[in-house]
Amino acid sequence: MFESVETYAGDPILSLNDDFQKDPRPNKINLSIGIYFDDAGRIPVLESVRRAEHAVASRDTPKPYLPMEGAANMRRAVQRLLFGAEHPAVTSGRIATIQSIGSSGGLKVGADFIARWLPGSAVWVSDPTWDNHRSMFEGAGLNVNTYPYYDPATGGVRFDAMLDTVRELPPRSVVLLHACCHNPTGVDLTREQWDRLIPLIAERDLLPYLDLAYQGFGDGIEEDAYAVRALAGARRPDGKPVAFFVANSFSKSMSLYGERCGALSVACADAAEADRVLGQLKFAVRRIYSSPPIHGGQIVAVILDEPELRARWEDELGGMRERIRAMRQALHRVLSAQLPGRDLDYFLTQRGMFSYTGLGAAQVDRLREEHGLYMVRSGRICVAGLNTSNVEAAANALAAVMR
Ligand code: PMP
Repeated sequence: MFESVETYAGDPILSLNDDFQKDPRPNKINLSIGIYFDDAGRIPVLESVRRAEHAVASRDTPKPYLPMEGAANMRRAVQRLLFGAEHPAVTSGRIATIQSIGSSGGLKVGADFIARWLPGSAVWVSDPTWDNHRSMFEGAGLNVNTYPYYDPATGGVRFDAMLDTVRELPPRSVVLLHACCHNPTGVDLTREQWDRLIPLIAERDLLPYLDLAYQGFGDGIEEDAYAVRALAGARRPDGKPVAFFVANSFSKSMSLYGERCGALSVACADAAEADRVLGQLKFAVRRIYSSPPIHGGQIVAVILDEPELRARWEDELGGMRERIRAMRQALHRVLSAQLPGRDLDYFLTQRGMFSYTGLGAAQVDRLREEHGLYMVRSGRICVAGLNTSNVEAAANALAAVMR
């Protein structure tokens, strides 16, 4: 029956993580997977999450199926978090939001929706992007192309080349954009660049698809939602609001990875359109997994809605952001001392969990084999895997192969 089934090569990042677990060396360092570890090298359980979980458990309520679109309180809370509580896009009812199984689930439901309702549209992702973007959209039957993004020469964005490509895209092309903390490079668009890109998107009738997986890890919860709000305020030449998608995640920001909490929101022209779009998102969900799980979404809703827990969460997220920043500085300090004259400022200017080191695959292999330091072969490191006990060793190992 299954003679022709081919071996799955595995996911490069997840396989690397498995190899790390098996490595017997005591001083091994894992900078491969996109997970936030605390200074003791553990995945934190946030106090806000602990308290929300307690509140949810103490309700002692039955566990019915949720509706296809998820829990109403969670979906409302997500809209307020992304767009701002009183944003007219929210109050007018023109946003269709579903609770999703991680933001991956949201990205996939959105991809299926696009394949069904905008069948001629191709998807354009940044060069480079999170590998799974391509797999997900191709898996939904869509063609995926790239637009210029990262500039290895400057460590910045090839913004003019990006605009040149975007300007030439056929109307209704889907443009996948990282709202903040670009994975894998850590290089984000500035506000000025968003302000130049968005009118072009509106004018060319393109469909932006924001991926917001790291809200709060860049400059702050509100600050990192800049692109969402700028798009929500943008108008097409005919005066209608710009339509767009945003898939957001609580995996990192609430350290809820395995609870699989995220959402997909679609900004529509008006409430009637949002109603129809929501209906088709529900149908897409029904055909894949029927409805999302209750537990994680309720933790998210309680944290976002309960002022004391909300404040505690914002503090905890701020602490994670600051710790990553401190690790960037420590890494930069040791590397600069070891490699005088080298421009290493990109470690400081890049945002979020990831940095692109510019190392090639051979250097990455040497780091793993000779120093027990694991990172992705593209040269991406997860800065959140560094801590006060390993940062010096990691920097020395990096310097050894960068010399
Ligand atoms: N988008 C990006 C850019 C990511 O890095 C990730 C997680 N690695 C995701 C989406 C998916 O996150 P999740 O499904 O856990 O919400």
